[in-house]
Amino acid sequence: MDIRFNFGEIQGRILRACERSARDPQEVRLVAVTKNVPATRVKEAMECGLRRFGENYVQEALPKIRALGPEAEWHFIGHLQSNKARHVVGNFRMVHTVDRLSLAKELDRRAPGPEPLEVLIQVNVSGEETKSGIPPESLPELVRELVRLPLIRVRGLMTMPPYFEDPEMSRPYFRLLRQWRDRLRGLIPPPHSVEELSMGMSGDFEVAIEEGATFIRIGTALFGPRLP
Ligand SMILES: *Cc1c(COP(=O)(O)O)cnc(C)c1O
Repeated sequence: MDIRFNFGEIQGRILRACERSARDPQEVRLVAVTKNVPATRVKEAMECGLRRFGENYVQEALPKIRALGPEAEWHFIGHLQSNKARHVVGNFRMVHTVDRLSLAKELDRRAPGPEPLEVLIQVNVSGEETKSGIPPESLPELVRELVRLPLIRVRGLMTMPPYFEDPEMSRPYFRLLRQWRDRLRGLIPPPHSVEELSMGMSGDFEVAIEEGATFIRIGTALFGPRLP
């Protein structure tokens, strides 16, 4: 699969989704998801102009982070065990999947500073038991605790709706996340903020953009089907 061609197609689709929803395309940032993608392919993606990459597994990510150098910006998007937190700080710019206070405390404790680690809170908007993330009703309480940690900066929310064939089915979940974002905005003291919405993958990113996504996380539409 040709990354340059796929990237061009995706950019066109992002622009059209922004037009439909009267949004500024600058507000929508692409995270290229590189799980199971070897470093050589990630390098190709960089040659096509991609700079922001998402990884689900710390051990898989570290050699790629070293291989790609300082021009790449890394986002952690997988389930994070607290004992891996020390590998995440300093290597990743942002963690999209903070879903408990104990994890945030560990990230804060391990952060080298002075640059704070940016975090998003993962929200389980569907209530599916198999999904990570906190129930939306728990957001205000968790946010109040997180903003007290000095080396963490809360930046927004992330979600993964259930899988549907029809991307329109994801829309109510994306909308719910945006509504929670809007509700939390007033609760957050600077330097924290709740502006970012990480939502939308290869199958449903256009709907996510229409509903306000500021980070879309795209793997297969860019790199082709993942090899096991
Ligand atoms: C794998 C993954 C993606 C990308 O999925 P695609 O359908 O390949 O675009 C996005 N977000 C998370 C959290 C993932 O694990």
